[in-house]
Formats: sequence, C-alpha cells, structure tokens
Amino acid sequence: MANTDKNKRYKKPKPYRVSASKKVNKEKAPFRIIPLGGLKEIGKNCTLIECNDEILIIDCGLAFPEYEMFGIDIVIPDFTYIRDNMEKIKGLIITHGHEDHIGGVPYLLQEVNVPVYASPLAMGMIDHKLEENYLTCDRHVIKAGSKFRIGSFRIEAIQTNHSIADSLAYSIKFPGGHVVHTGDFKIDYSPLDGKVIDLNRLSQLGDEGVDVLLCDSTNVMRKGYTPSEAVVRESIDEIFDNTESRIIIATFASNVHRIKYFIESSMKHNRRIAVSGRSMENVIALSRSLGYMDDLPESVFIDISQIRNVADRNLTIITTGSQGEPMSALTRMAYDNHKSVKLKKNDVVVFSSSPIPGNEKVVSQVVNKLYEKKVEVVLASTMDVHVSGHASSEELKLIHTLIRPRFFMPVHGEYRHLIEHAKLSSRLGQPKNRIFVLGNGDALEVDNRKAQIAKEFTSGEDVMVDGYGIGDVGSVVLKDRKTLSQSGLITVSVALDSVTGALMAEPILNTKGFVYVDEHQDLLREALNIVYNTIGKARSQGKFDEAALNRAIRSDMKTFIYRKTKRNPVIIPAILYV
Ligand SMILES: [Zn+2]
Ligand SMILES: [Zn+2]
Repeated sequence: MANTDKNKRYKKPKPYRVSASKKVNKEKAPFRIIPLGGLKEIGKNCTLIECNDEILIIDCGLAFPEYEMFGIDIVIPDFTYIRDNMEKIKGLIITHGHEDHIGGVPYLLQEVNVPVYASPLAMGMIDHKLEENYLTCDRHVIKAGSKFRIGSFRIEAIQTNHSIADSLAYSIKFPGGHVVHTGDFKIDYSPLDGKVIDLNRLSQLGDEGVDVLLCDSTNVMRKGYTPSEAVVRESIDEIFDNTESRIIIATFASNVHRIKYFIESSMKHNRRIAVSGRSMENVIALSRSLGYMDDLPESVFIDISQIRNVADRNLTIITTGSQGEPMSALTRMAYDNHKSVKLKKNDVVVFSSSPIPGNEKVVSQVVNKLYEKKVEVVLASTMDVHVSGHASSEELKLIHTLIRPRFFMPVHGEYRHLIEHAKLSSRLGQPKNRIFVLGNGDALEVDNRKAQIAKEFTSGEDVMVDGYGIGDVGSVVLKDRKTLSQSGLITVSVALDSVTGALMAEPILNTKGFVYVDEHQDLLREALNIVYNTIGKARSQGKFDEAALNRAIRSDMKTFIYRKTKRNPVIIPAILYV
C-alpha cells in the first residue's frame, strides 16, 4: 500500500526501466558467423562475423597441402564472399602468429585493404610476410586487455596460453550480440612467461551473457589436462645437467618462450648458442627486437660457421626441422648435407616437438638417419620435451562452464574433433539444438529467438597457391600432375600444310615415364597409325584448325592407349602449320 503523501518527501528514484531495456535487447540485429576455413580440417582458419552491413574477419591462415596435391605450395581460404562484400569489410583481428592463422594475410590484403589488429609478435610476423610481398597495411598493435572498436564491433583481447607468445581470445560485442572466440588455447597455470590465461575475465564475460562461443577443438579427444610448459622446462634442465657433448635442439620457430628457455639454460651451463635455419634465425631476431627475450648479450650467440672454435660441452645448436622438412637444417645435418654441422657420436639431438599428423613418416626417416650417426636422440615420446599448446577435454569443460553461451559452435578441428566437442558441450547440459557443427562456407544465422545453419552459404573451397599465382591451379592442373606422376606423358608432334592440311612429315611421338620405348615399339607404331588416321579424318571433314585437331588427336590417342595398356598418360599434341 503506497502512502503517497509520505513518499513525496523522498526523492523519487529514477525509474529503472527493466522492461524497456529488455525490449532493446530483444531487438538485437540478426547476424551471421561464416567460417571460410578451419572447420573439418586443421589449417587456414578464417571466420567472418557479419551484422548490419559490417563484416569483421577473425584470422586468415593457410594450410599445407594434402599429399595428393602435387606441386602445390600452400592452400588458402576462398575469399569469394569477401570479394563480393568488399565495402562491408571493416577489419581483421588476429588471435596469434601461427601460420594457420596468419599465413593467408598477404593474399587477403591483395584483395582488400583491411586494417589488421594483432599482438606485437603476430604483427611482426605479418610485417615480414608483407615485406616479402611488397605489401603494406593499416596496422594496429594490440595486447591482452586492449579494448578497441572496429566499426560497430567493440572488441576486447583476452590473455590465453598457447605454444606461441601473446595468444589472444576475443570478446566481440556488436548490435547483434556478443561472440567469444577462444583462439587456439590451453590453460597453463605456470607458463614460461608467467602470463596465465585470464579465466577471471572469461568468467565475467560469461556473466555478462555470451550469444555464441567459438572454441578450439584440436585436443578435445584427449582426456584430462594438457601439461604445463613447465614440464618441458624440467626435462630440458635434466638434459643440460647430464650432457657433456653438443646439444642440438629442434623445435617450432614460433615457440618463442621455449626457445628463450633453451637459450637461458645454455647460458647457465656455459654453453654458447648457434642458430641454424632461416625461420629460426628470423623469429629469434624478431623476438629479440620486440623484447620477448629480454636483453641477451650478443656474446652468447655464435655464428653457425664458427662452431668449430667452441668445445662440444660449450655448444647448443637451436635448429629448424622438427617436422622432418626435407630442406631444413636438421634434415641436412642428418643426411650429411649441412655446411657447418657434421654430426658425431654422442651428440644429443632433442626433438622438442611432436610430428604434426601426416609428418610421422618423414620424421621417423630423419630419426633413423640420426641413429645411424650414433647420436643420442631424445623424442617427446621418450621424455617430456614437448607439450601440446591446445586444451584437453577437462580444460574445455572449464571454458564452457565459465562462458555458458546461448549457442555453441566448435571450431579449429577435423570433423571428428568438431563432433566430439559438440558431444562434450551437450554432456555439460547445452541443449543439442543450441550446438552447431558447421563446415567451411556454411553460415550460422543468429537472431533473438534462434540460430540455424545456412548450408553452403558461400564457397568454402580450398584455394591452391603455387609458384605461379593465386588460385590459377584448378583441379584440371592437379589432375594432370597426378596423371603425370602415375602414367607419364606422350607428346605428338605434327607438321601440316597450312592451306591443305596435308601432313608435311612423319608425325613424331615422344614419351616420358610412360613405357620402356624399346619394349613397346609395336605399341608406338600402332599409335602412330592412329595419328595418321585422325589427321586423315580431320582433313576429309575440312576440320584441321588447331583446336579441333588438338582435341581429336588427344581423344583418339587416349582411347587407343587406354584400350591397349589400361593407363591414362597425359597426351600433348603439338601442331605446326608450315
Ligand atoms: Zn596455434
Ligand atoms: Zn591453429
């Protein structure tokens, strides 16, 4: 019962318009999340958020080709949607400096001039790529805790842990709602740089309300917790304490903190450091210039060509090649092709890495070569010299529990990882109809009431890049390369009278990688007859223009060769009009 008279004496509190503010929330703009890469694969991560004619891009990575892609250097996301919506693109934010998150940036910048936001290390790596490609961009260096605006997107960078320094998660608020993207992460309570993932902030964001969580799925199939980087530190200490010979350590060049620890351990043990491999030299130089390695005295480093002047027990070599890459420094050492390093008995070679799926075979070839040299090999499988940079299932559960999103979309994983991550979320109580497993090129469409997948919203195809250019190597070329490698090549050279179409000389057949010519003279003679027939036929029909004749020779030869040999070589007619 309100006593109005009495109440009048008090200052009336400003009306707290619960219903009105809720109403505002209810009219949030619809938005889309469009993954262009990184789903049903590990590699070329690239995700778009689109709301009210504005698009924000999160990461732009590359993938390394699958085995069947002959001669292709790298694979990047399909930028068709970006190209078609150029005027909407507001900015690119980078979670961290791994290739599967930044490797596509130069290719993106060739299409659209977009401002780039990244941590100092990631930006340094991007700068290097841009320089190589004679590109520049509007660059913004940010740090964990930075809050900034890109168009209507209000963005906050949040500290996480990963196998590279300065990995960030992002909170992205915009008229459509609130999206949290974890980036690649793990939960490390004792990381080498002391910067623990900001669980506190993630929890607050969860309290504020998150519409969609995009979360790393790489290690969802691993039980328990990913060990801390501190575990590696202990193993490295043990190796340094017990070794009197040279220590050669191979790791990922981007794992800056670990490399720093190798250097510090070496200094503690009176060892000087030689660096081998271009990417390792670049990253160490970059990290030092950006202050990631404190002030290391120049005198601890020694040029790889000068290592003969240092006693074995005073030398550490830090090298590339932890993945068995054919031209890498460690592989060259293993095969006796390194200019400055000749491996010898008792050298200790440490693989501070584990093979990325697909690389197991080449890595074990290098390891076997090292055994032949009687060097001591330390692998992650025999000693804790490597830990993963991705969260295992218990860590993922913590993030889900802190964020409690309205909708969940697993990212950064092969199909099985995405499905297992969806199951994990469902076991934690997320309703199944609020979990969305997408593929590249699909879109998650979100509004106030619901979210739904628009299948094949845009092209999510692989775009292949080789030495010649971007995307000009279509499936036809790949097929040719595959055919060449399996069935070889036949060229048919023909000289014709340009007026009458008559043969001016006997056609010439050449083969490469197809059959042993000596054993197959009959076959080649018959093939030659086919060429005569084809040309005769074409001439009688008056169709001896180059394109038509080319097609006819290819088609007739193909049919004949396949009938005789059950093989399908590449056939290249060369027609000369005289
Ligand atoms: Zn990563
Ligand atoms: Zn990644």
